[in-house]
Amino acid sequence: MRYPTSLSNSLETTPTVVVSACLLGAQCRYDGQSKGVPALLPLLQGFAVVPVCPELLAGMGVPRPAIEWRSHDGKFAVVSEDGVDVTPRLRRSCVQIVESLRPLQPICAVLKERSPSCGVHQTHLNGEVVAGQGMFTRRLEPHCSHLFSEEELELVREFLVARRPSSGVGSP
Ligand code: SF4
Repeated sequence: MRYPTSLSNSLETTPTVVVSACLLGAQCRYDGQSKGVPALLPLLQGFAVVPVCPELLAGMGVPRPAIEWRSHDGKFAVVSEDGVDVTPRLRRSCVQIVESLRPLQPICAVLKERSPSCGVHQTHLNGEVVAGQGMFTRRLEPHCSHLFSEEELELVREFLVARRPSSGVGSP
């Protein structure tokens, strides 16, 4: 993923926050829609925001068949609604994103709850919402200890207010 020069420069000097791209308004969900959270945007001002979409980077396209975790004989896989096991390609995408994020040492991530890729506390397994993480979240966690869902905006606000750079561009 390539970023504009201005964003690349800011990434070098300001704390990095990772955000699921669909929460920022990108129409990258399986159904071609976004899940934009307008109230999140002011909280991110002053930080270097890195949008990520593991499913898009995995080449799954938009729109695409919805995916979910499935379990069988104690093994877990991510499978599309048309029966394709997308686990290997999604795993590669998640590893690639996490490796690119590690040098940035993100202070936190705000990710889409219940997504099989980005879920923080819940995800979809065998047609149900269950406690668990998405594949990307699981890979990111060892490198980013503060993970929030978009349903925890008050926690996000408290966390970022305390860490907002005093000279951050666009700080309120
Ligand atoms: S939840 Fe994650 S993988 Fe799904 S559309 Fe949003 S950013 Fe992409």
